[in-house]
Amino acid sequence: MKENAFGLFKDSIKLILDVLYPPKCIFCEKILNVNKKTEPICDVCLKHLPYCKNYICCKTCSVPIIKKNKFNLCDECLIYERNFKKNISVFLYIGKIRKTILRYKKMRKIFYSIFFAKLMSESVIEKYKNINFDYIVTVPIAKKKLIERGFDQIHEISKYMEKYLNIKYLKHALKKSNNTHSQKGLNYYQRQISQAGKIKIKLPKKISNKTILIVDDVFTTGATIAECTKILKLCGAQDVYCVSLARTVKNDKYFKIDYKNEFEN
Ligand SMILES: [Zn+2]
Ligand SMILES: [Zn+2]
Repeated sequence: MKENAFGLFKDSIKLILDVLYPPKCIFCEKILNVNKKTEPICDVCLKHLPYCKNYICCKTCSVPIIKKNKFNLCDECLIYERNFKKNISVFLYIGKIRKTILRYKKMRKIFYSIFFAKLMSESVIEKYKNINFDYIVTVPIAKKKLIERGFDQIHEISKYMEKYLNIKYLKHALKKSNNTHSQKGLNYYQRQISQAGKIKIKLPKKISNKTILIVDDVFTTGATIAECTKILKLCGAQDVYCVSLARTVKNDKYFKIDYKNEFEN
């Protein structure tokens, strides 16, 4: 009887919370049908978001390939060898995905981390199924950015990925020095120069002979991942792979970036 009363109380609280804060799709902010939904995504987004798997992407860095070639590599990966093995991304960084990630970071929607971690973990299970990772390591964020934003979004995602994937997460193993300037508008080489020597490592002995999974939110040129890989390899890492939530594209006019009409019906 007591249990029933408690259950009733819990249900009423949930109902009140749902009325005050109805669960919304984290991508389009449309209110979800609470009886049907367990995940924070609506049916339209589930079907139409720009998933990388729907495009022909570079097999090393996951950028969509516009001019196809027999190697399935982008222009940059064709010419230059990356020091990390591969990056996989869940989405292209366009349209609603770009808006959602910006909202997540700027409006501190920390609870998005759980679903992002789930999607990224599913990609790891599917695409890296034959790889035994020893550790998850995150791309570090500068202290200034952390203070400005109030949370480390990649750390939040990695906490849940550790649970989904059962891979030990080495918290804050990599650190960024304080005086790191914004990378906006810089190309791969300018970024590499600006990143050089800016990343430090904690517990270097743990890395020796280990296979590392680097977690990042948005993979842009890969310069930061290259710098993280460099220091991990200096500590004896065997292989370094990356998983990111989204991959920037070179020219978004080639991509269907929105599906506004679907919502107007
Ligand atoms: Zn939606
Ligand atoms: Zn590439």
